[in-house]
Amino acid sequence: MNMFYLGGYDSMYFLVLIAFAFSLYAQAKVSGTFNKYSKVRNHRGYTGAQVAQQMLQNAGIYDVRVERVAGNLTDHYDPGSKTLRLSQSVYDSTSIAALGVAAHETGHAIQHDVGYAPLALRSMFVPLSGIGSKLSMPLILVGLIFGGSTGQLLLMAGIVLFSLAVAFTVITLPVEFNASTRAIRLLVDDGFLDTEEVRGAKKVLKAAAMTYVAAAFAAIAQLLRLVAIAGRRRN
Ligand SMILES: [Zn+2]
Repeated sequence: MNMFYLGGYDSMYFLVLIAFAFSLYAQAKVSGTFNKYSKVRNHRGYTGAQVAQQMLQNAGIYDVRVERVAGNLTDHYDPGSKTLRLSQSVYDSTSIAALGVAAHETGHAIQHDVGYAPLALRSMFVPLSGIGSKLSMPLILVGLIFGGSTGQLLLMAGIVLFSLAVAFTVITLPVEFNASTRAIRLLVDDGFLDTEEVRGAKKVLKAAAMTYVAAAFAAIAQLLRLVAIAGRRRN
């Protein structure tokens, strides 16, 4: 072991720490922004569920169900069962934050309906990413313990599997940005929010998007660190 490798290892570790701090910041920011705008009612009095249902109808989508789901910020669209699940604080709420989230999830349902390619690619990556994140760390650990050429092979296999999980976080980005762009456009065009209200909804969705950027950044930092460790082992 020499100083060069220690240096390489440490700078990558530093990057991982920055990514971790950014993730914490993004999480705090999305909770804070959501809380702030969940106290502001929209002037027409629509609930999240009503907006989602109306938007789906306006888009000519009649086979997507809108239902409640437990938890906080657990809202999601499930392409498998064509179900749009809204959390309690969105489904029945008339807040600007609720309408932003409901419209965003409807954006995913519309992506699915129109065959938006990045969403299809993302869905394809779900099982691969699951396998990648489950198997990569055990393989990497065993590889590091084994050492030698067998250990190096296991380490490389672990890194390749981990890359699948990293790729998933990157593919998620255009899907999320696009759903939010659709959401804001629909909230304005369909007349659910006025110009002032839509500014709040935009802030909520922007904060939510930042958590996805943070997740991708954290995954890439972790991958770079693993590659650095593998390189240090080989030499
Ligand atoms: Zn989303």
